[in-house]
Amino acid sequence: MSQWPAWLPLNERLRPLSPYGAPQLPAEAVLNTNENPFSLSPELAKAIALRIETVAINLNRYPDRDSTSLRRGLAAFINSLSKTQFSEGNIWAANGSNEIIQSLFLAFGDRGAMGFTPSYSMHPLIARVTNSPWIEGKRASDFSLDVELAKVEIAKTNPSLTFITTPNNPTGSSLAIAEIEELAKNVTGLLVVDEAYAEFSDEPSAVTLIEKYPHVVVIRTMSKAFSFAGVRLGYLVADKSVIDALLLVRLPYHLSALTQAAAEVALEYRGELLGNVAALIKNRDWVEEQLISLGMRVTPSKANFLLFSGFDIPAPILWKSLLDEGVLIRDVGLSGHLRVTIGSEAENALFIAALSKILQKK
Ligand SMILES: *Cc1c(COP(=O)(O)O)cnc(C)c1O
Repeated sequence: MSQWPAWLPLNERLRPLSPYGAPQLPAEAVLNTNENPFSLSPELAKAIALRIETVAINLNRYPDRDSTSLRRGLAAFINSLSKTQFSEGNIWAANGSNEIIQSLFLAFGDRGAMGFTPSYSMHPLIARVTNSPWIEGKRASDFSLDVELAKVEIAKTNPSLTFITTPNNPTGSSLAIAEIEELAKNVTGLLVVDEAYAEFSDEPSAVTLIEKYPHVVVIRTMSKAFSFAGVRLGYLVADKSVIDALLLVRLPYHLSALTQAAAEVALEYRGELLGNVAALIKNRDWVEEQLISLGMRVTPSKANFLLFSGFDIPAPILWKSLLDEGVLIRDVGLSGHLRVTIGSEAENALFIAALSKILQKK
């Protein structure tokens, strides 16, 4: 971009980039970043405040730089979901899974990374920022991942990091565990499975592959199903040697004592925080039905959002018309498609009513 001042010694590779920027706009229904629409109960908010108060007395000291207690809690959480046997040595925690992704690139990215588009836009963006070569793999025209084709592309380029996102963002489609295992058998570097939406899917988690395939690493987050996006807590489940390598690139004391404390309370209240997942899945099915009855095409989703197409106005114009009706959804840059996060029943109804009104008007 030419607007950078000439005196600014900005790295050449960063000059053409734009910062990540999902619009944060006021709207009646905020359905654009796949957050959980349900806020925390007053009881949980109070429990966090009380824990923070205890921790606050020691804020003159640096936090536990290894987040040992939190990682132990996260290991127990994953073990309870997937019947695995992980300990804190198999978990790394950071400020959102985006920091996990950055650490993976810093530690392992030199030989290049591959992902299959359309997928999570931060994977290639963080690759660029960390100076890791990025190789774009392809998906089928219905956005599903053709595992056989992926194997050929992986063999051709042999990247040190192969990213798959399942359920995939922005499509919502997911891979069967057998397909992930097939990829694991054909990847020589690390197979990075981004499971930001795993709690919404009934597929087994790829964490169940790690014991047999130690080069499979799984990214999880508290930002989506866990209803805790504001805290910024993402984590990695992996073989201990992977975690040990990440210690080389982490910044000292990267995870604040406040974050660690809040996340530990969240784990204690997991029942409440994950309690709305079933309702969200039901609401997703309702929104899908409504979209189809409005003549839209919907990609089958195992996440808390839907990618839809079938409208005959340009996506940015439909996006803006919805915003004018108080509904903020996401233009993911895929021609003819928009993505909507599943919200509360009232938000979903507002979205469907607004869309119906716009489609009838034109
Ligand atoms: C939302 C999302 C993340 C989450 O990032 P956090 O930094 O944990 O909030 C990671 N991966 C994918 C695919 C996502 O959609």
